[in-house]
Amino acid sequence: MSEIRIAPLTVVPSAGQVMRNAELAFCTASGRITYLGPPRGPLGPNDVDGDGRLAMPGLINAHTHSAMTLLRGHSDDVPLHTWLTHVRAFELRLTAADVLAGLRLALAEMLRSGTVGFVDMFQWDSTLLGAVSEAGMRVSAAPAVFGYDAVAFPMADATPGAAMLDRTAALAAEFAGDPLVGLAYGLHAPYTCPPDMIADVARRSAVDGIGVHIHLSETQFEVQESLRRFGSSPIRQVADLGLLDGRVHVAHAVHPREGDIELLARPGVTVAHNPVSNLKLGAGIAPVPAYIAGGVQLGLGTDSVASNNTLDMFEEIKNGALVQRGYAADPAVIAGSDLFRMATAGGAAAIDPTLSGVLAVGEAADIVLLDVTGTTATPFGDPGSFLAYAAHGTDVTDVFIAGRGVVRNRVVLAIDEAAARAEVTERAARIVSELVEA
Ligand SMILES: [Zn+2]
Repeated sequence: MSEIRIAPLTVVPSAGQVMRNAELAFCTASGRITYLGPPRGPLGPNDVDGDGRLAMPGLINAHTHSAMTLLRGHSDDVPLHTWLTHVRAFELRLTAADVLAGLRLALAEMLRSGTVGFVDMFQWDSTLLGAVSEAGMRVSAAPAVFGYDAVAFPMADATPGAAMLDRTAALAAEFAGDPLVGLAYGLHAPYTCPPDMIADVARRSAVDGIGVHIHLSETQFEVQESLRRFGSSPIRQVADLGLLDGRVHVAHAVHPREGDIELLARPGVTVAHNPVSNLKLGAGIAPVPAYIAGGVQLGLGTDSVASNNTLDMFEEIKNGALVQRGYAADPAVIAGSDLFRMATAGGAAAIDPTLSGVLAVGEAADIVLLDVTGTTATPFGDPGSFLAYAAHGTDVTDVFIAGRGVVRNRVVLAIDEAAARAEVTERAARIVSELVEA
C-alpha cells in the first residue's frame, strides 16, 4: 500500500467538526482515507508537511455551466431577458474548440479554489469529458437538450435534442469504467422542453438508471407562465410527468409554491442552491431555511461565470449565509456550517450518491489543504468560522482527488494555466469583435 501522510495539521472533517494537531493519511492506490487521528511520528520523504495548513473535504460545485468562462463579464448589469439575449448571441458563435478552451480554464479555476467535482449542464461530448478526466476531477455531466428538434450550439455541436438523449446514454456506457465521470440527462427547463420529452426522459431514467439534471422555478416569471400554461408550478408539473420519482438534480428552485417543498424532499431528489447567480440576475432568494427544515437535500453551486462571475465556492458559502440573514432580518436563521455542509456533503450526494463529502477512514480521499497562516486566518480561533466567512479560493494550496494530487503548492498539475488563460482571452476577443461587426 502506498500511503501518503499529512501532518501536523488542523482538520475540519465535516461541517461543525474540528481536530487540531492531527494526521490525515490516504492510499494512492485505493484513493481512500486510511487514517485520521493524532500524529503517528516522523514523516517520510513522500509525505506532506501540514504545518500551517487546514484540511477539509473537497468542495462540490452542484450546478454550473463551466465551459462558459469565455463569457465572464460579458453582460453584467442588464435585466434578465436582455442578459439571456446577450448570452445566446455569444453562445451561437462558440465553436467546439472555444468550448474546450473555456472548459480548460474552468477546470483550472475550480481546482485552484478547492473544487474537486462539479455538476454541469452543457454540450458534453467525449472530448470534453476526456479533458475533465485528464485533469483528475469528478463530474456529473448533463448534455443539455432544449426540445426534440432544437439544436443548442450550431457552431459547436449541431446535434438535435432527441439524438442528444441517445448520446447521453452512449456516453454513460463509454465512461462507465471511469469512477470520476458520471452522466445525467440534461433537460434544460420545462419552458424549453415539451411535456412529452420530460415524460420520455423520466421513463428512460427509470429503465437505465441515468439521473436527470434540470432547471426549475428559477424566476417568478417562469412560475407564473407555468401556472398559466399548465395550471401547476414547474416543480409540480415535472412531478406529475413522473420526473421526481427517480434520481433528479434540480437547479435553483428559488420560488416554490405550496406543496413543492414536499416534492423536492423526495428521496432521489437533490437541489442546487446558487445564491450569487440568483442575486446577480435578480432572480430572487430561495427559501433555504424552509428547505432544510423540510428535509430537502441541498447542494451549493456557482451557476456559470456569465452570472457570477467566478467559480469560487467560498463566495457561495459566505453570500449564501448572509443573504438569508439579511432577508429574514435574523442572524439565527442559518449558520455558516449549514452552507459549508451544502458545499461538501450536500454536493457529494448530488454528484455521486456513493460519496459522503466528509473526511473519515474508508471515505474517498478528496482533500483540500488551505494556508491558515495569513492575515485573514489570524487569530485562528475557530476553523469553521474561517472556512465560512474569511476563506477564499486563493487560500487553497493543495488538492487531492481520489488520492491523486491535482494541485500542489498552488500549481494545477495537469493544465497549463497560462496557456489556458491566453487561449480564452484570444477566443473571447474574436467573438466580441464578431458581435460588434454583426
Ligand atoms: Zn444553470
